[in-house]
Amino acid sequence: MTPHDSLSLSGSLVEELFPFHCLISEQDNLIVSVGTALTPLLPQNYHCSRFDAVFRIVRPEIQALTAQTIKTHTRSCVIIEVVDTDIVLRGQFVIPAKGCLLFIGSILVQNAESLENIGINLHSFAPFDLTPDFLILRKFREIEHKDIKKRTSMLAELSKSRDELSEHAYTDELTKITNRRGFWNTGTKILNEHRSNKKSVLILALLDLDGFKAINDNHGHDAGDAILCAAAERIRDTVGDQGIAGRLGGDEFVLMLILEQQRDIKDHVERTLREINYPFQHRFQQFSIKASIGVTEIEPSDTLECAIHHADIAMYEGRKDTRGLITWYTAELAQRLEEKKQLLVRLKEAINHKVIEPHFQPIISFESFKLSSFEALARWNDPEIGIVRPDIFIALAEELGMLDQLDHLIMEKSLDQLACWHSEGKQYSLHINVSAASLKSALVDRVVKAISDRNIDASYLKLELTETTILENTDFTISVLDSLRDNGLTLTLDDFGTGYSSLTHIKDFPVSGLKIDRSFVADAHTNEKSKALLRSVATIAKYMDLHIIAEGIESQEQFDFLRDIGCHYGQGFFIGKPALANTCEQLFPEQQDAAA
Ligand code: C2E
Ligand code: MG
Ligand code: MG
Repeated sequence: MTPHDSLSLSGSLVEELFPFHCLISEQDNLIVSVGTALTPLLPQNYHCSRFDAVFRIVRPEIQALTAQTIKTHTRSCVIIEVVDTDIVLRGQFVIPAKGCLLFIGSILVQNAESLENIGINLHSFAPFDLTPDFLILRKFREIEHKDIKKRTSMLAELSKSRDELSEHAYTDELTKITNRRGFWNTGTKILNEHRSNKKSVLILALLDLDGFKAINDNHGHDAGDAILCAAAERIRDTVGDQGIAGRLGGDEFVLMLILEQQRDIKDHVERTLREINYPFQHRFQQFSIKASIGVTEIEPSDTLECAIHHADIAMYEGRKDTRGLITWYTAELAQRLEEKKQLLVRLKEAINHKVIEPHFQPIISFESFKLSSFEALARWNDPEIGIVRPDIFIALAEELGMLDQLDHLIMEKSLDQLACWHSEGKQYSLHINVSAASLKSALVDRVVKAISDRNIDASYLKLELTETTILENTDFTISVLDSLRDNGLTLTLDDFGTGYSSLTHIKDFPVSGLKIDRSFVADAHTNEKSKALLRSVATIAKYMDLHIIAEGIESQEQFDFLRDIGCHYGQGFFIGKPALANTCEQLFPEQQDAAA
């Protein structure tokens, strides 16, 4: 019977109980078998090796590793090393049968990592292998596990509060849809994805609720908030899972839509507008709100910032004329705006450098057919852009906030010319246009100073104001106009008939004359209704002691008709076009009559 055989009955039990065991033949010191947990840790040729070639007993120190020397240490604790490895075993030698020695032990844990490095894990240890090191390892693992649990719960808490924070940081508090920051975040991601996916179409729309301020002002912030929330919900619903909707602030919303096809864009944006334009309900009250939408298709090269800028330009452009519309950003629109930008820069320079000049259009008396006065009309001929029409640059000057400065410039220059004419003995009068921007209390002092500086009598200066101008701030306007009149200036209501309550104005404002708009004059000789209207105006003016100037006379027929109904003065291309001071009077040599 071999030593192994002597254990054969209990071999499987030994294996199960002691996975780190080693059975040695006492006779030749050869290894008979090793436990399954230990096998992978031994040199490959261990089976034909002597015990002392594979193991080395380090405690107690036994130099000559013979069965006899080992035997003297049976039942006491020994520590053995597996040669050429880091593995150290601790255990006991027992003599299970005659002629064989059994080492039963367990691995000595130096550190958990080194164990794991050599592929041993907790499962390698039998459940009752309660060597102290194993206990320590188990404890260590328990602690580690607890720590992981602790760390996991800490992480869970952290990520929960991070989610809450980002929810807060990226959500609009009132409407609960994405806010500006959130939109920026998600929008950038969508845009980056879109760059690599050229199949879909990406559009960005800005939406502004028209007339929202009035709801806040007239119905309170509760109503305003409720409408914002309802609008946000509608916008979010129209976007659905096809993109993102956000509130940028106030009553401004933004949408980014990923659409399959180009032709879906129009439908989708129109649907959004329809949804918003549907009346809102709050506390049994209905609110009709129109939204203006600016839309741009995002090119792969566009940044989010530039897409928002494009949509903003489109929205702003759309809102200028009519509200509640969809305006598309196009290359033409961009070009038009670029040109306008340049025009604004040039105009600012032109006004500052005083290169805008007055031209003078003659006004004649119907009674004497003689030249009575001139209307000063601003003319801008830019060396780079060329001639710019007054209606264009006057609107731009207003946008620049420089219309007041422009009026002043024309007044100064044309009064210089008037002073010059007067010095030549030509006692013309001068009509000057005054815009709403100039109608401030300072206007009175400015005009009075301008005429007294040039020794011009106030009666030679006629200020033309339109109905819309005087209607802007009625009480204040009346006080300024009264003051101008008290200083001897006369006031004429320009473009008469284009406003909607003209007759009231004649009564309430200190005007001494009316200038009938050229739209009435255009068909004065052909259209019966225009004829009737002009006759009525002439009659009213006569009874109210107002003089009438008809502007825009282009033909003899118009001229004759207007003279016949009792107009006092006439102006128009038929009489003379606006021209430079040195040419405007050439058509009327020696002709001069009482001022219009
Ligand atoms: P407005 O004061 O009603 O000036 C008359 C406009 O009618 C002038 O246009 C004149 O050129 C034009 N006009 C005169 N006769 C005829 C005619 O027979 N046929 C046609 N088709 N047009 C005629 P313009 O010079 O283009 O000025 C347009 C408007 O710009 C002026 O209308 C006035 O409101 C404003 N404007 C011009 N210069 C100034 C200025 O220095 N200051 C201000 N505030 N407004 C100015
Ligand atoms: Mg005028
Ligand atoms: Mg006019």
